[in-house]
Amino acid sequence: MAPLPGLAGLLPGELAELLGLPPFRGVQIFKWISRGALSFDSMTDLPLSLRETLAEKYRIRTGSVKSRLEAPDGTVKSALAFGGGTGIEMVLLADGRGRKTVCLSTQAGCPAGCVFCKTGTLGFRRNLSAAEIAEQFLFAGDLSPGISTVVVMGMGEPLLNLAEFRRACAFLCHRDGPGISPRRITVSTCGIADGIRDLASGGPPVRLALSLATADEELRKALMPITKTNPLPLLKEALLYFQEKGGGRVTLEAVLLGGINTGGKDARAMAAFARGLDVVVNIIPWNPVEGLVFSGLPLREPSAGETAEFRRLLEKEGLKVTRRYRRGRGVSGACGQLGESARTCAEAPMYAPAQPAAERLIRKSGADG
Ligand code: SF4
Repeated sequence: MAPLPGLAGLLPGELAELLGLPPFRGVQIFKWISRGALSFDSMTDLPLSLRETLAEKYRIRTGSVKSRLEAPDGTVKSALAFGGGTGIEMVLLADGRGRKTVCLSTQAGCPAGCVFCKTGTLGFRRNLSAAEIAEQFLFAGDLSPGISTVVVMGMGEPLLNLAEFRRACAFLCHRDGPGISPRRITVSTCGIADGIRDLASGGPPVRLALSLATADEELRKALMPITKTNPLPLLKEALLYFQEKGGGRVTLEAVLLGGINTGGKDARAMAAFARGLDVVVNIIPWNPVEGLVFSGLPLREPSAGETAEFRRLLEKEGLKVTRRYRRGRGVSGACGQLGESARTCAEAPMYAPAQPAAERLIRKSGADG
């Protein structure tokens, strides 16, 4: 028997239309789902007969939690399974000051193939639907209500799944639902110039982070193959456009790879790229992932000295610099480490060759990772 369709992620009007109910019923069901209701029976302001009909024909969520790992710093990494055994990971972070942030995935696997990222080794399996993106937020809320901040930095490249991400944002930001301000949602891209322009002109007005890694074009091509079709000058133009449209300050994420991108030349290239843009550079010492190599050598974490020196060099160039506080490493839930459990919760191996749909997507976007 085919699994029942899920209702999570739909907006009040969509629920009312789908279920053939008056608009106020759509709002009631939406509110229950957004607050984490796990059964129709718990929706006590709905008539009993409606609750019974809903339970016969629908489920609330389509995903399930396969495993959870909690790090000593309170970070929780959840492996979730969606339709067809699609496995993804979602991370909940607490910053010690009571602010809770969820890190969402937008794709199962990723077509971009950045060499320093675990997810990049998985290949691309499929885009997540808006409902599957929204459900991650709900699963995080089961663990810890009151999430105020969302980062879209999990598995996948969000700007290659922008339509579904937009719909998920409509859920996250809805005033009758989670009510997250778009300015508290940060989308991180590996550098899809068309996607940045599309986001700038079509919204939502979320914050943007560019995973830059290096502003040395040749090195970036080797580290992040997406650069071959999205060269740095094109990316800079897209960022200028984003800021012209009122997108605000952009974060340049600089993952630091020991001995590779932490020298004076790298700092000067980054400063040249940043010129004319309103940016802050977030330096992220690479989080170890076993088996990742570059130019035949295993990648390594930068030493504390290398990190401090690179920061000094950037500041000397006049850049504003922050350093990401490392969280979630104990559960491989830190930046660039997602993907381990995705293998085990997928029915079909995520290491399978890219599906035709993925190849089309890569060609369309210009990614060739
Ligand atoms: S860093 Fe982001 S875009 Fe690059 S492979 Fe990993 S998930 Fe994909």
